[in-house]
Amino acid sequence: MGKFQTALTVPCVAVEGGGLFPVRRIYCVGRNYADHAREMGSDPSREPPFFFGKPADAVIQGHAVPYPPKTKQLHHEVELVVALKSGGRDLSPKDAEAAVFGYAVGVDLTRRDLQEEAKKTGRPWDMGKGFDASAPIGRILPRDRAMIEPGTAIRLSVDGKERQNGTISQMIWSVAEVLANLSTFVELKAGDLIFTGTPSGVGALDPGARVEARVDGLPRLLFTVK
Ligand code: MN
Repeated sequence: MGKFQTALTVPCVAVEGGGLFPVRRIYCVGRNYADHAREMGSDPSREPPFFFGKPADAVIQGHAVPYPPKTKQLHHEVELVVALKSGGRDLSPKDAEAAVFGYAVGVDLTRRDLQEEAKKTGRPWDMGKGFDASAPIGRILPRDRAMIEPGTAIRLSVDGKERQNGTISQMIWSVAEVLANLSTFVELKAGDLIFTGTPSGVGALDPGARVEARVDGLPRLLFTVK
């Protein structure tokens, strides 16, 4: 066998109050807010949720996020992120909720031009969604300290101007329903992160853009695109 070297480290996300959350997998939900489904040209009827993934090491914490190559249309999507402490298959919504370790604010960065091309040609979304540093995320707040309620606001601003402003109640599928549905496709495990969809107002980020993403009650996420 030839010699090779690899950096086999587990990507981690900081936990509010101390500690690190090791990331196993990142799952994302498509079109989980009706007004965003409409802005993307889809019918927001309650069709079952659909999922895609990002590599675990797409998480990035810190104040600088690199502008990715191969795109002229880097889009922001602010999302409530769920971090799991356990998992299972075919979970009931109640069991799914018990598997939640905590919540964070994330941005599902998207090379929209590549994603649109993939949609048109029936190709995979991976290069539009799963690129390096495509999952900026704030510190995780353990669930016993996080009050995520229907009226909880989810917002994103760029250079101080508000772009996205919604509430958790606008989610077509609740966190528990998303997890339960996802667990029918794959076994969920501790370390999984689930990005639960974005409200309307997605738009482009240029190099230099200062992004502030917030879900009320959670540590806010601030970064600049470099
Ligand atoms: Mn998204």
